[in-house]
Formats: sequence, structure tokens, C-alpha cells
Amino acid sequence: MTYDIIIIGGGITGVSIAYELAKKKAGKILLLEKEFLSAGSSGSCAAGIRAQFGSEFNIGLMKLALEKFEVLAEELEYPADRIGLWQGGYLVMSSSQPEWESLKARVIVQHRLNVMTEVLTPGEVKYRFPDVNVDGCFGATYHSKDGHADPFYTVFAYGKAAERFGVEIRKRTEVTELVRDDQGIKGVRLADGDTIEAKQVLVATGAWTHHLMKTIGLDIPLWGERHEILITEPVERVFSPMVISFSLGYYIQQRPHGSFIMGLPPEQKHRWFDPAQFDISPTWGFLERMSDTVQRILPRFKGLNIVRQWAGLYEITPDSHHIIGPIEEVPGLFSAAGGSGHGFMYGPGLAPIMAEWMLGQSLSYDITRLNYQRFAKGELVIEPAVVG
Ligand SMILES: Cc1cc2nc3c(=O)[nH]c(=O)nc-3n(C[C@H](O)[C@H](O)[C@H](O)COP(=O)(O)OP(=O)(O)OC[C@H]3O[C@@H](n4cnc5c(N)ncnc54)[C@H](O)[C@@H]3O)c2cc1C
Repeated sequence: MTYDIIIIGGGITGVSIAYELAKKKAGKILLLEKEFLSAGSSGSCAAGIRAQFGSEFNIGLMKLALEKFEVLAEELEYPADRIGLWQGGYLVMSSSQPEWESLKARVIVQHRLNVMTEVLTPGEVKYRFPDVNVDGCFGATYHSKDGHADPFYTVFAYGKAAERFGVEIRKRTEVTELVRDDQGIKGVRLADGDTIEAKQVLVATGAWTHHLMKTIGLDIPLWGERHEILITEPVERVFSPMVISFSLGYYIQQRPHGSFIMGLPPEQKHRWFDPAQFDISPTWGFLERMSDTVQRILPRFKGLNIVRQWAGLYEITPDSHHIIGPIEEVPGLFSAAGGSGHGFMYGPGLAPIMAEWMLGQSLSYDITRLNYQRFAKGELVIEPAVVG
């Protein structure tokens, strides 16, 4: 059977683009996922969502994504309490004078784009968020519309809506190879040896993207990097923002049911291009570093029991931005991967634009700078506000 579009990967990126394409009546669409929806990074993440970026490009894009998150439950006809959008704000802490100056400079850009972030002195942080220890903090910025959602249900909601619009989703179906000829992409080969043809193929396989593109000789600069995270026992719901530091790398939030989720970047960074190298085993060192950090930042919650720790992969690119759009060497082939530590929040914002791009329509927001060609041209997308 021949499809108009095959999408590989059932994370937030793949399902949201599948939905947007189907909504635009893009023809026969097949989504292939080797495990289950949200089995990759999307199901491992903290699902934080923020417009507090530093570049106009990212602030504008994330403003669109936030607006989409706000209507997502209604649009996808999925229970709002499951998608679980919680807009308790992001409290971005500074830990040096230069960092503080840089955060304030970003707020000027955010205000220009109508992202009304507040600038708080340490005293104001203490007054507004008495649980936060402000020792060593030079000031913080706070945007009340930032927040987080439930990553699993968000992906499931997109998957269900895509199916309602006619997308065929096949789980437990691994693509082992892309298939091309001199004219362009032809389709995909599955683990059982079957070939499925399509006019367009979108690779939305997160950290697995380098490996899959390699099957037709493409060398995409995208690798997996282990990031650890933990969740505590639930306690009374008292803490609303995501408290985060880009320089120290921590982020801590309380979920609607009362558990705290928190993470820190790895001490040692590995660049894993080949899935055979992927190691997402949890470490004792992370538990110690994370416990020390949370006791320092939120001392009131000292003594909370940890119920689970896990690790997932950031899918990183040289500038920590997606590689998205057509792969020019292979007409009909597209990529949408590489969201690094912010690929969940970007999903709903990028998806409608990516659907426009695949269908040859004019783009409602110019994301062409995220194209793969930027590396050859040396035109990296620079963004200071990433966790990493
Ligand atoms: C600990 C941690 C915390 C994070 N916190 C945040 C956060 O707070 N906010 C945020 O925005 N982002 C966060 N991220 C990043 C975010 O999780 C990712 O950027 C995002 O989920 C990527 O989504 P994706 O759909 O592109 O990739 P994935 O979710 O990885 O989906 C790719 C899918 O492709 C499938 N696949 C791979 N190869 C094949 C194949 N050959 N055939 C078929 N299927 C295949 C995989 O099984 C997988 O399901 C975090 C990540 C981690 C690890």
C-alpha cells in the first residue's frame, strides 16, 4: 500500500505533526512507532513549558506554543485534567551579577513580544515565594503563564485526535531503514522486511534520528545525552512555580497531585549517536547532587521521600535547536527532531508550521532557520536560555 505521508516516531513531535497534517486533509497518513506512544524522551520528561527564552525567535515561537497549550484540551477533545496544563509560572533564578544582568536583558525582549515577565529582587522573591531560599540569588524573573503539563496524556490526546482525523497509527512497528532512489524518498523498510511506500517521509525519532538517517547515508548532527530526574512522595499542594536556574542547571516543580519532580544536568556528558550506546540507567550520584540542591533551594521540603528516579535522553544538536524541515538531498524526506531539553514544550507550536511546510504552504511563523542546511552554512541559532 502507498501512503501520502509516513511519520516515524510517536513522541510529542510525531503525533502533533500527524494531527496537524490530518486536520489539513493531507491524504493517507501512517505513523509508525517502534514501542508505544511517548516511549521515548516525551515519556521521560518534566514537561515544563515556558516563554522565558532569550531570543526573539524562540520567545515568539513559544508564545504560540503556550497559546496552543491553553486551548489544547478543547481542540483535541480530551479531558483538561489529564492534559494537566498548570500555569503556575517559571521562576528563573540568577546566581551571579552577570547572569542577573542577562536575565533582565531577556525580559526587555520578552516585553517587546508581549510576554509580560516580572523582574523580582531577592526580597520580592522571598515575599512572593516564601519557600524559596534566596541566599546567593541576585534576582529572579517570573512569567505567570509558564507552567507544565502531563507529557503522557498530551501525547495520547494528540494520538487519539490524529486517529479521529484518519491517521493510521501502528505501534510496536520498527523502521529499520529509509528507502530512497535517485529521485528522492520512496518509503521505509520495517523490521519484518516489508517495505511501505510513501510520497513523503517525516523522521520524528528524537535521539534515534541520526541512526535512522544514516541508513541512507545522511550524517545528521544529533545525539542522545542522558538526563536524570526524580519524583517524590506527594504532599500538600503548596508550591506553584517551576523554580529553575540555567547556570546551575536545576529545575524543581510540584505536580498537581503533590509530588515534586526535579532534575539536574549530568556531570559527565556523553554524545551517543548510536542507539546501541544509549544508557538510561539511574545513578546514585544524581540522587546525592539532587538531594543537596533541593534542600538548599527549597529547605522546607527537606526529608521528603523519593519514590522513583529515572533517566531519559535529551536529543541534542550543535546549537540545541531542532533540525526541522526538508532534507534537500532527498526530495520528499523531512526531519523534525532535536528539541534537546525543550522539545516537549515546542511540539504544539511547531506542529502546525511543520504541516504547512510539508504541504508547500506559506509558513505562519518563519522557522526556516531551523533547517538542516544551517550547519553547512555555519548559521547556528543562538539561545542563552536552555537547560543543559
Ligand atoms: C529528563 C528530561 C527532562 C526533560 N524536561 C523537559 C521539559 O521540562 N520541557 C521540555 O519541553 N522538554 C523536556 N525534555 C526534552 C523532551 O522530552 C524532548 O525534547 C521531547 O520529548 C522530544 O520529543 P520527540 O517526539 O521529538 O522525541 P521522542 O519523544 O524521543 O519520540 C521519538 C519516538 O520515536 C520512536 N522511534 C525511534 N526510532 C524508531 C524507529 N526506527 N522506528 C519507529 N519508531 C522509532 C521512539 O520509540 C520514540 O517514541 C526533557 C527530557 C528529559 C530526558
